[in-house]
Amino acid sequence: MNDTEKNNMNEPVADEDGKYKTLLESTKAIPWKIDWETKQFSYIGPQIEGLLGWPQHSWLNANDWIERIHPEDREGTVNFCISQSMDGVDHEADYRALKADGSFVWIRDVVHVIRKNGVTTELIGFMFDISERKKMEEELLSLNRKLEALSLQDGLTGVANRRLFDQTLKAEWFRALRGNQPISLIVLDIDHFKQYNDRYGHIKGDECLIQIADALNKIPLRSTDLFARYGGEEFVLLLPGAARESAIEIAEKCRNTVLNLGIPHEASSTADVVTISVGVNSVIPASGDEPPSLFSGADKMLYQAKECGRNRVASHQ
Ligand code: GH3
Ligand code: MG
Ligand code: MG
Repeated sequence: MNDTEKNNMNEPVADEDGKYKTLLESTKAIPWKIDWETKQFSYIGPQIEGLLGWPQHSWLNANDWIERIHPEDREGTVNFCISQSMDGVDHEADYRALKADGSFVWIRDVVHVIRKNGVTTELIGFMFDISERKKMEEELLSLNRKLEALSLQDGLTGVANRRLFDQTLKAEWFRALRGNQPISLIVLDIDHFKQYNDRYGHIKGDECLIQIADALNKIPLRSTDLFARYGGEEFVLLLPGAARESAIEIAEKCRNTVLNLGIPHEASSTADVVTISVGVNSVIPASGDEPPSLFSGADKMLYQAKECGRNRVASHQ
C-alpha cells in the first residue's frame, strides 16, 4: 500500500479536527467505505481487527471482503449486495464472516449506496456483530421444535399422541383417496383395565400402560405407519397402503405381543395376564367418506372383539 492509500484509509470522512473519526472508531459498529468503480476499500474501521482478527490494512478491496464470507453464505450475499448496489438501493445483509482463526462471526452489514448522476459511485456501511442475536434466534428455533415435538407426544408413554394421529389420519386418508389405495386402522384396548387399577393401584396401571406402549411401539412397521396412544388405555395403529389381510396379521402380532409380556392380572376374568382386544378396519376411501369413518369402523370391531370374549381380533368380513 502506498502513502496516499494509507492516508486514505485513515480518513473515513472529511474531518478537520478528527472528532468524527474518534466517534466512528469508538463505536462497536465497524464503519467502512468502498469506491464502486475500483472496488477498493477507501476506509475500514480499526475495530475490524478486534472482531475478525484480520488487520485493518489487509482490507484492500471487495475481494478481501468476499473471501472472508463463509462459503455457504458467499454467493447469495455477494449477488444480493452487487445487484442492490448497482440499482442504487440501500440494503442490509446478514452473513457469517470468517475470522482469521478459522471460526466465524454473524455479521449484519448495513449499506448506503451513494449515486451521482444516476450512477453508483460509492458504498458506505456499518458492520454489526449479531452473533448474540443469532444465538438467541437459534435457541428459540430449537426450543420451538422441541415444543412442537412435545405437543405431538403422549406425556406418559412417549409415543405419538391423539393430535399427531388425527393429523396423520387426515393426510394419509386423502393420499389413499387420491391414489385409490387401501388404508387400515387397528384400534386396541386393554381388557379389564379398571380392575387392574383397582387391584394393583394407579401407579402400577401407569407402568402397565408404559410397558405395553413400549412393546407395541417396537413392532417393526413401515415408515408411513403410525402407532399412537388414542387416549386412556386405548391405542391405534394406522397402516396406509395395507389391505385387510396384512392388517389382521399385524393386529394378531399386537395381541400376542401384549399376551407374551405376561403382566399378571389376577382380577381379569379373561386370562391370568393382561390382554388386549383389537378391532381392525380396512377400506379404500371413496370420495364423500370422511377420515373419522375409518376410526368408527375399527371401534365397532373392537366392541365386537370385547363382546365375543376379549383377548381377540375382530374385523369386517
Ligand atoms: P374393558 O375390558 O371393557 O375394556 O374394560 P376396562 O375396565 O378396560 O374399561 P373401562 O373403560 O371400564 O376402564 C378403563 C380404565 O382405564 C379406567 C381408567 O381409570 C383407566 N385409565 C385410563 N387412563 C389411564 C391412565 O393414564 N393411567 C391409569 N393407571 N389408568 C388409566
Ligand atoms: Mg379397556
Ligand atoms: Mg377403553
